[in-house]
Amino acid sequence: MRCSLISRLFSIPGAHTLDIAKANGRYGSLPRLFSLTPEAVTEEVVKSGLRGKGGGGSPTGEKWLLMPPLDDKPRYLVVNADESEPGTFKDRQILEYDPHLLIEGMIASAYALHVKHAYVYIRGEYHFWAARFETALKEAYGAGLLGKRLDITLHRGAGAYICGEKTALLESLEGKRGHPRLKPHTKEPEWLFGHPAVVNNVETIASVPYIIEHGFEAYRAFGTPQSPGTMLFGLSGHVTNPGIYELAFGTSMQWFLDEIGGGVKEGKALKAIVPGGSSCSILKGQHIPNVTLDYESLKCSNSTLGTGGMIIMDETVSIPKAMKNLLEFYHHESCGQCTPCREGTGWMDRILAKVLNGRGKRSDIDLLLEISMTMNGKTICVFAPAVADMAVSYIHAFPEEFYALCPS
Ligand code: SF4
Repeated sequence: MRCSLISRLFSIPGAHTLDIAKANGRYGSLPRLFSLTPEAVTEEVVKSGLRGKGGGGSPTGEKWLLMPPLDDKPRYLVVNADESEPGTFKDRQILEYDPHLLIEGMIASAYALHVKHAYVYIRGEYHFWAARFETALKEAYGAGLLGKRLDITLHRGAGAYICGEKTALLESLEGKRGHPRLKPHTKEPEWLFGHPAVVNNVETIASVPYIIEHGFEAYRAFGTPQSPGTMLFGLSGHVTNPGIYELAFGTSMQWFLDEIGGGVKEGKALKAIVPGGSSCSILKGQHIPNVTLDYESLKCSNSTLGTGGMIIMDETVSIPKAMKNLLEFYHHESCGQCTPCREGTGWMDRILAKVLNGRGKRSDIDLLLEISMTMNGKTICVFAPAVADMAVSYIHAFPEEFYALCPS
């Protein structure tokens, strides 16, 4: 089902400007927001079941509840706009067409979290989107929407994929090298400048105004019980109508591809889909009719919903070449802290290059699988396991294509 909880203003010309955004209901959640206590706002978000839309899918409200009891020390909200996953291009739609939605969401979230200073960490290459958001910030300050209760600082990253990982992002925001941090043993908030912080993705925060304005039940009217609400899904690759579309969770993947995406480009056959950004496990085309767009269905299909950025591959795609393309990228983007990741991504890339050059042996394919096992479960962050699972899924789904490249 197509929806417009987040994307309602995307097609309205000029809706990125404050006047037109306001004329179309932007900041309409604020009267109800300030009629509630911060704790009631958090409760509303918990009850909505809003899940993080940056890839992890963890419940947003529960993350907020990890903040320690209020004291006189600072606490922060950080919005992750470091959208760097290949195949994912949804957050920049919000920044381009409705930046005031993000500001409205930040006002609501900061109010709930008793935050006085929030940051937006934006991908270094997003020059246009950073400038657009900055203009919206100036408008919001000029109109008195910001500055009294909340200040927002826009921070531009230098362009490292791993800074999309929330702890690497925080390290970078503190002025250090963008390396992920070790995970604590117990659940606790993130820490920025030694103080508690919540890190949420752009789309997650942009979902908050609807929940506050219309109530959690209205949000839960969309989606499934475990994956409530909607998400901005991307279509790219060999599809007739690529783009970003807001859908309720639980929508059929096949329907999305055929009815909204217009099917595979030039009427070719569907070979495979990468469902949620390029680090997700690949799905063979024949499995698509059984998949719905929600966390549970994708997990049952041995993949993940991730960022919802679907990459469509038609019958002409060489799966080993597609995998090589990704390995090259992930090898380049490994932050290098963990040996299994730093070396493993490099060795996988080099071995697959040898196979694609016609100098591979069948044992090289087994070696790729072996290396992927050494990368799984032994690293600081999930980057290496995600790359390993991605590679294994490509080989398991299309083994004949890999072995056909190895003469002996
Ligand atoms: S798994 Fe890779 S990206 Fe993550 S911390 Fe280790 S080396 Fe860095």
